[in-house]
Amino acid sequence: MAGERVNLLGLPRAELEAFVATRLGAKPFRARQLMKWIYRRGAADFAAMTDLAQDFRSQLSEVARIAVPEIVAEQVSNDGTRKWMLRMDEVQGIETVYIPEPDRGTLCISSQVGCAMDCSFCSTAQQGFNRNLSVAEIVGQVWLAHRELGEARITNIVFMGMGEPLANYRNVVPAMRTFLDDLGYDLSRRRVTLSTSGLVPQIYKLAEECNVALAVSLHAPNDELRNELVPINRKHPIAELLTACWHYIDMQNGRSVTFEYVMLDGVNDKPEHARQLAKLLKGRPAKLNLIPFNMFPGTRYRRSPAAAILKFRDILNDNGVIATIRRTRGDDIDAACGQLAGRVTDRTLVRLGTKLTPVARAPAEVR
Ligand code: SF4
Repeated sequence: MAGERVNLLGLPRAELEAFVATRLGAKPFRARQLMKWIYRRGAADFAAMTDLAQDFRSQLSEVARIAVPEIVAEQVSNDGTRKWMLRMDEVQGIETVYIPEPDRGTLCISSQVGCAMDCSFCSTAQQGFNRNLSVAEIVGQVWLAHRELGEARITNIVFMGMGEPLANYRNVVPAMRTFLDDLGYDLSRRRVTLSTSGLVPQIYKLAEECNVALAVSLHAPNDELRNELVPINRKHPIAELLTACWHYIDMQNGRSVTFEYVMLDGVNDKPEHARQLAKLLKGRPAKLNLIPFNMFPGTRYRRSPAAAILKFRDILNDNGVIATIRRTRGDDIDAACGQLAGRVTDRTLVRLGTKLTPVARAPAEVR
């Protein structure tokens, strides 16, 4: 909209430098000073940025702003996990979760309001899809968490909240640049993880353009089962997905891809599934993360018994594939992966109330 002030959280360094040059006639070092104030000191008010000239600050406040989502609710789990519901506009809400551990603090952020991928075990999917988050809305989740956490450190950022990040490629990649930038959140590439359900063309694109850790929601060892659990598999089957993953690791000189595998009782947790998985991943740069399923109202799935999960892990390990079991966190506040609810007005419902197929209703920004 003409005259609307630009939210600086939406501009990674190169764009911020261009913005101060073209809109304010300022040198690039002004952009660097601004980044230190915004990301290191958590400032949102230009008036507080005392080492910037008064004139520059006044000009800035006419054309720019630092706007973050509003917190509408916060829950703190017994284990210290914190979950924030954030208002994105009049109607929509998303969730962001902070998970503290002795050696790290992980922030799980969202990339979309809802999700169009329709994975059958996922709570977010039940709500449908509304829209992509902007760069500023993605970065704003981290800015807010920093403010709320005070001394507690965010050492890792994972795109495992609401949404399929690669379906919002054009906004997720600039946001990640700010996470990696030494004047932004200064995280190493191993500490920013993008988790995808398997948008193969975007994995190839990402391999060319950005260097972060890759996680893939696999959840099944064969196409028949994965078609049912992760419907994008009908478009990009397992063999095609794995080829893209190995290419990504080659291009990025990465260590391994983390494959997430939610353990669903009697569905994908049988010994034969573990053996099929081992065949797919043995000798490859791969780690498996077994996730005990967190039930939510209306789901038809149940969590696999602990003994089945342990046996599954052992078969994988015995067959040369590294597999670990994820400790469930924030159970009492529904903060686990695939459980983020938010508040979504589903725009994918057609008039008669039937949903389009997941591939057909992927957002327009998918490239
Ligand atoms: S598991 Fe991830 S990709 Fe699948 S529907 Fe849920 S949020 Fe979307």
